[in-house]
Amino acid sequence: MYWNKRIETMSRDELMYIQNERLQKMLRRIYHNVPFYRSQFQSVDLAPEDITEISDLSKLPFTTKQDLRDSYPYGLFAAPLSEIVRIHASSGTTGKPTVVGYTREDISNWAELCARAFVAAGADSNSVVQVSYGYGLFTGGLGIHYGAEKLGASVIPMSGGNTERQIMLMKDFHSTLLACTPSYAIYLAEAIEQYGIDPGEIKLKSGIFGAEPWSENMRKKIEERLHISAHDIYGLSEIMGPGVAIECQCKNGMHIWEDHFLPEIIDPNTLEPLPYGAPGELVFTTLTKEGIPVLRYRTRDLSVLHKEVCECGRTHVRMERVSGRSDDMLIIRGVNVFPSQIESVLMEFGNVEPHYLLIVTREGTLDNLEIQIELSEELFSDRISNLEELERKIKQKIHSVLQISAKIRLVEPKSIPRSEGKAKRVIDKRNLQGE
Ligand SMILES: [Zn+2]
Repeated sequence: MYWNKRIETMSRDELMYIQNERLQKMLRRIYHNVPFYRSQFQSVDLAPEDITEISDLSKLPFTTKQDLRDSYPYGLFAAPLSEIVRIHASSGTTGKPTVVGYTREDISNWAELCARAFVAAGADSNSVVQVSYGYGLFTGGLGIHYGAEKLGASVIPMSGGNTERQIMLMKDFHSTLLACTPSYAIYLAEAIEQYGIDPGEIKLKSGIFGAEPWSENMRKKIEERLHISAHDIYGLSEIMGPGVAIECQCKNGMHIWEDHFLPEIIDPNTLEPLPYGAPGELVFTTLTKEGIPVLRYRTRDLSVLHKEVCECGRTHVRMERVSGRSDDMLIIRGVNVFPSQIESVLMEFGNVEPHYLLIVTREGTLDNLEIQIELSEELFSDRISNLEELERKIKQKIHSVLQISAKIRLVEPKSIPRSEGKAKRVIDKRNLQGE
């Protein structure tokens, strides 16, 4: 099932032809309309005409989140405000947010790509889509919303939070597809169990979950608890918002819509482009964006690209689920640790809840990692000796996977704070700033 069969299944040659043509146009646009990019070209002594094929792209400099911040609010816009119909901004936990603008054409393309995502995840015009991503400056809610409308689904613009009401409407309105963060999906599943709702009353069939990295084992938990097919969706506001890539029914990576985005994988240390199949940092160049096109944007998300045609028939390159962020990486006693690696280990243990907290402290010069993990109700009432055994097993497994020893602390059910948006998994108490 496709939304746009011709484009979603076109040959790689055809795709590359389109990419090349669109890239030329995009490079001219940013060179002539955005002083920042013109000086980026000049810094390497090149003009748009010097980039004649996609492989030449690596001659041009990267764009970073800092560049977006420095140009606050409209410095990187390539269209006048008279053509901008929507403005979104990142949450900006520190300092000024990053601002992005969309022309009418950008909004239309975004809806098209989200519609493709919905169909890939099994939705159609009969679907009732409950959007539990936040609406507002954050791109999640509105981005998904327009795609679901374009598909012709019935959209419930629920936004995040208000869990009791979420579940009441999910039940009464017969929602068939849920869109939210994976951690909120688990939270909703728990609440449904807690309210003693008969699973038969919930009509959900599938879900698209994104905006934070999650593991394969987390997928299994969500699928079991909500009785749905859970799909990973990828996006970031700097590139478009949700819908840059989506997992199809084969669930072997997310298809990046290559007629609109040109992905690269680079080594985050040497910044050299890496071949398909190699793990590294994702970099995107937008091909059709008018409002705020970006050149070689460093996402900091770590992934792997695969170009083999998928069993679903889609030819667009697949990215593996994001394994972490190059800037979220914790360095504990000299070992690189990604929270997602720890999650993956924890989820292998059946009776452990998908709620955990990593606490990093430093005594003298030595880093300590404590992992707090919530027990399920039935395990919590188990014999102490069994719990000690579980602690020992988790400790052993963490050590064998990450090569570090962690203190494991099993905590009472429901004692780790829940999140209605992105989950907070790490508390780093080391004061690394001052060193
Ligand atoms: Zn596929």
